[in-house]
Order: sequence, then C-alpha cells, then structure tokens
Amino acid sequence: MTFANLTGKVAIVTGGTGGIGQAICGALIAAGARLVIGYSSNHSKAAALVEAFTQGGGEAIAVQADVATADGAKLLVGKAVATYGQLDVLVNNAGITRDGLVMRMKEADWDVVLATNLKSVYLLVQAASRHLLRSPQGRIVNIASVVGLTGNAGQANYTAAKAGLIGLTKTLAREFASRQVTVNAIAPGFIDTEMTAVLSETVRAKLQNEIPLARMGQPEEVASLVRFLASGEASYVTGQVLVVDGGLAM
Ligand code: NAP
Repeated sequence: MTFANLTGKVAIVTGGTGGIGQAICGALIAAGARLVIGYSSNHSKAAALVEAFTQGGGEAIAVQADVATADGAKLLVGKAVATYGQLDVLVNNAGITRDGLVMRMKEADWDVVLATNLKSVYLLVQAASRHLLRSPQGRIVNIASVVGLTGNAGQANYTAAKAGLIGLTKTLAREFASRQVTVNAIAPGFIDTEMTAVLSETVRAKLQNEIPLARMGQPEEVASLVRFLASGEASYVTGQVLVVDGGLAM
C-alpha cells in the first residue's frame, strides 16, 4: 500500500487555486482522494485544475464560494456531499493579506482578513462537522502561518487571524477527539507563491539570510505534510501546530 493513501476519501481544499492550494490539491489527488477545489474568483485556474486532474484519471470538481460567509461555507460542503456522498477531509487553506502598520490599518482591512482567514474556518467546520463525524477517518487541516506564532510588524490583522486559527485548531481537536476526527494546523514560513511575490528583493535577501535552510519554501513542501496529516498514518496526531519554515522560527 502506498504511504499516505487516500483512495476513496473525499477532500475539500479551500483556496485551491492559490499557490499552496494547488500543490495541496495535487498531493491529495495523487494519493487517490476525490477533490472539491474551493476558490474565490480565478475561474480559469479552477477549470484548468479540474481538467488536468480528471485527464490524469482523478475525480475533481471546482466550486466558487466565498468562505468568509455562512452561505459560501454551506455551498462548498453541500456540493461536496451532493457530488460524492461523503466528506472525509477539510483543508482550510484560503487566506488573504491586507498589510499595514496597526496605527494606520483600516477597519475594513482588519475585518476582511479576520473573516477570510479565521471566521471562515469556524463556518466551514460547522457546515462540515456532521459529515466529518460520520467518516471513519475524519480530518481537518488548517493552514496557519509561522507569523501566527512569532508576530510580524505590519501584519496585525493577519497574525491575529493566524494565532486565532492555532487556538481554534486546539479547541476543535479537543471537541472532535472522542469521534477520532483529528484537527491539526500547519504553520508555513515564507513559501514561493503570489502572496509572497509582492516582497521586495531587499526583504527576500534579508529573509534568506535569516532562514537556516537559506531559501524560500516550495508549495509542495507544505502539501506533502497535508497529505500525511490527512492520511491514516497520522491517526494519533491531533491538536498540533507543525512548522514548515526551513528552520526560521526555531
Ligand atoms: P494565494 O496564492 O494568494 O491563494 C489564496 C487562495 O485563497 C486563492 O485560491 C483564492 O482564490 C482563495 N481565496 C481568497 N479569498 C477567498 C474567499 N473569500 N473565499 C474563498 N477563497 C478565497 O495564497 P497562498 O500563498 O497559496 O496561501 C495559502 C494559505 O497559506 C493562506 O492561508 C496563507 O495565509 C497561508 N500561508 C502562506 C504563506 C506564503 O508564504 N505563501 C506563508 C504562511 C502561510 P482565487 O484564486 O479564486 O482568488
């Protein structure tokens, strides 16, 4: 049997059209999962992913849904269950940044980051919980961030959301433990995606100096851990925050 096999499992990946999300989708489909790719606006990327995965022999659908709203969360979960009849894995990966120093941060930027990165997880878990509880191998994997552990000047909204997500992960792990549903968070460091493409060369050079492995991470280096946590091999791991940051925050 292949390591971290997910044959027969159904997984939702929010933010599946993003850099890390695409890699997570690729890793889960390679493990045999049937996929629901959640996204916000990038129709062409969503359609291209579905085509690539189905041509490769996998099963995947894409669903446009705003995860910051209860209706969006219900739509995503409803489509997964209507299409595949079950739900085993929920990967909460959708996220945004609206950076700025707290002294000048607009209330709207605080609210949208908290809603998209944190409230969404509460909404999705609430919508998905009865299906995950029915699964013999229910799994929730939340994509937090290393800055949720360390803080980061200019990211008050984002770090508050990610630190909140870490607290939420531990509470969910306790609430679902009696039904063997595991809940874990991954805290990536600086990963090469559109989210970090906005960083200046100076910031990149400084970061590479500070990262013991002396490079940014690749989305696949986060995705392989999601695959493991979603699988039967990780059945005794719950309530944890696993840092994937090249040693930055140790
Ligand atoms: P990204 O490339 O910017 O992708 C973001 C994804 O989230 C896209 O699929 C986007 O959909 C989706 N999304 C945004 N708002 C949404 C909404 N309201 N409803 C539904 N979907 C929404 O980001 P990334 O770098 O892959 O990051 C993925 C996750 O990893 C995020 O939670 C991020 O905070 C976390 N993270 C990233 C890094 C990093 O260095 N990149 C480090 C630590 C943690 P569309 O494509 O349709 O717009």
